[in-house]
Amino acid sequence: MPSTRLLNMKKSVNPHRPTALPGSAKLNETGFWRTQRPIFNEELCTGCTRCAKLCPDACIIMRLNKEGKLKAQPDYDYCKGCGICAAECPFSAITMKPE
Ligand code: SF4
Ligand code: SF4
Repeated sequence: MPSTRLLNMKKSVNPHRPTALPGSAKLNETGFWRTQRPIFNEELCTGCTRCAKLCPDACIIMRLNKEGKLKAQPDYDYCKGCGICAAECPFSAITMKPE
C-alpha cells in the first residue's frame, strides 16, 4: 500500500511539464520524454532476454505468447526511447521509429 505522501506526489505530477519528482521510476512515468519508439518484431524475437537485462529503465517485460514462446514487450509508459535495446538485440528484432 503506497504511503499518503507518495499518493500526494503522484497527484502533483503535471504531464505537460517535463520534470520528474524524486521517487521510483514506477511513480514517474517517463515515456512522454521519448522521441524515438522501439518497435519489437515478435517473429524475429527469440526470447533471449538480452534487451530486458540491458534496458536502463527495466521497462521490457518478457511474456509467453499464444504459442507458449517467450517474447519481449516494452512498457511504453516508462520507455524513454534510448535505443539501447535496438542496438543490443543480437537478432535485429527491434527497430527505432520516430514518434
Ligand atoms: S534481445 Fe532481441 S531477441 Fe532477445 S529478447 Fe530482446 S527482442 Fe527478443
Ligand atoms: S528504448 Fe531504451 S528505455 Fe526503451 S525499451 Fe529500449 S532500452 Fe528500454
